[in-house]
Amino acid sequence: MLGPMRIDLHTHSTASDGTDAPADLPRLAKQAGLDAFALTDHDTAAGLVPAAAAAEQLGLIFVPGIELSIHPDPFATELPLDGQPAPGSLHLLGYHIKPLHPAIKSLIDQLHLARATRNPRIIEKLKELGVRIDYTDVVAQANAPLAEHQVAVIGRPHIAQVLVHRGYVKSIHEAFARYLGQGAAAYIPRELPTADKAIEAVHAAGGVAVLAHPVHLGLSPDDLEHHIARLADLGLDGLETLHPDHEPIDTKRLTTLANRFDLLTTGGSDYHGSRKAIGLGSVLAPEDALIRLREAAAQYA
Ligand code: AMP
Ligand code: FE
Ligand code: FE
Ligand code: ZN
Repeated sequence: MLGPMRIDLHTHSTASDGTDAPADLPRLAKQAGLDAFALTDHDTAAGLVPAAAAAEQLGLIFVPGIELSIHPDPFATELPLDGQPAPGSLHLLGYHIKPLHPAIKSLIDQLHLARATRNPRIIEKLKELGVRIDYTDVVAQANAPLAEHQVAVIGRPHIAQVLVHRGYVKSIHEAFARYLGQGAAAYIPRELPTADKAIEAVHAAGGVAVLAHPVHLGLSPDDLEHHIARLADLGLDGLETLHPDHEPIDTKRLTTLANRFDLLTTGGSDYHGSRKAIGLGSVLAPEDALIRLREAAAQYA
């Protein structure tokens, strides 16, 4: 291998809100010049088996992953009550998880139930605002690229897509700004697992717990440090220091915090296919990330 290893540890497929099938991602990763990549779909492990099989055929290193939606307050120890808009969003990456482990499966089931409750309420809220779309269109849209027996994790990006198709908004961005984003007219919070439970489940399933795109927490530098200290206490293993939404100053701050709390560092493009204008491999992980993830996973195996 010439030059440094090219590793992208954050990608999405049609199993959640990406636009490429899990089995197609390895070929695209290879075309993007990657040596290794991780699939980290939102709240599902359904794409991991087909992606791993295709990666193996191409001789590409594959890291099975997931990106779990977590309650944004790491000090919360109970499921938040419905109807409380929670600021920020906390996404927890789990690497090297055993996808069928009961601990991760029950967390995934809980997350799917919360989505199944929330999504129709968003449609209702939109209707009150005079925006009439059918949830069946959202479901069909999300599942269209999948094989017959598969179902995608349905989220706000799919609702946004239908709003664009129906001409209510001009872009996904406008759909979030006007209707779906936090604080927008049809924003409905959902029940989310607490950080302690999620980290515990990732470890139980043999995985390594990494805080995704920490800037999305929307915290001041002091509060961010406070939250990361708390997550480290709960067993967090790493920080995603490299991400398209991170400015160089963010990466620098996060790397300092990772050193302070003895956390490994990761990075990736957060590729969503055509749904976001970010190319596969456009942000790479630190060189030592693969080895450090493997070492960390060995403790939980
Ligand atoms: P959900 O998990 O269903 O609540 O949807 C959240 C997902 O929507 C995030 O993980 C992003 O992929 C996407 N998203 C959130 N905010 C925006 C935005 N402003 N524009 C485009 N996509 C967004
Ligand atoms: Fe997403
Ligand atoms: Fe995320
Ligand atoms: Zn992501």
